[in-house]
Amino acid sequence: MNGHPIAEPTPLTMPFWNGLEKRQLIIQRCNTCHRYQFYPRNFCIHCESRVLTWEPVSSRGHIYSYTITMRAPGPDVAVPYVVAIVELEEGPRMLSNIVDCDPFQIEVGAAVVADFRRENPNESMLLVFRPA
Ligand SMILES: [Zn+2]
Repeated sequence: MNGHPIAEPTPLTMPFWNGLEKRQLIIQRCNTCHRYQFYPRNFCIHCESRVLTWEPVSSRGHIYSYTITMRAPGPDVAVPYVVAIVELEEGPRMLSNIVDCDPFQIEVGAAVVADFRRENPNESMLLVFRPA
């Protein structure tokens, strides 16, 4: 898909992007209350601890909500495609695309698993999900 925004990692988000390069989904986990969070922050959203580590997760989840995009944002973008909120087994929700599926067969609650796509050789690896 061309014409999409290019990811711009920051020092805070760099571990996430480095994980994607290794085809691994890693997110922050609190060392105090042991819960996960996404997107990355400098503190735990559950207990406000500032002691967080990056940990690999199962990469499995389910579709919490979704929409089917029918109108392309640019001439090189293929439609329809699915934009979904995926709830990971570990709890956090992530905005992503569901790929390798018939968009009209998608259902809320459907099991999905992380996958990794690089749209162009000089761009970051991107996180997507596909039916599990
Ligand atoms: Zn915490």
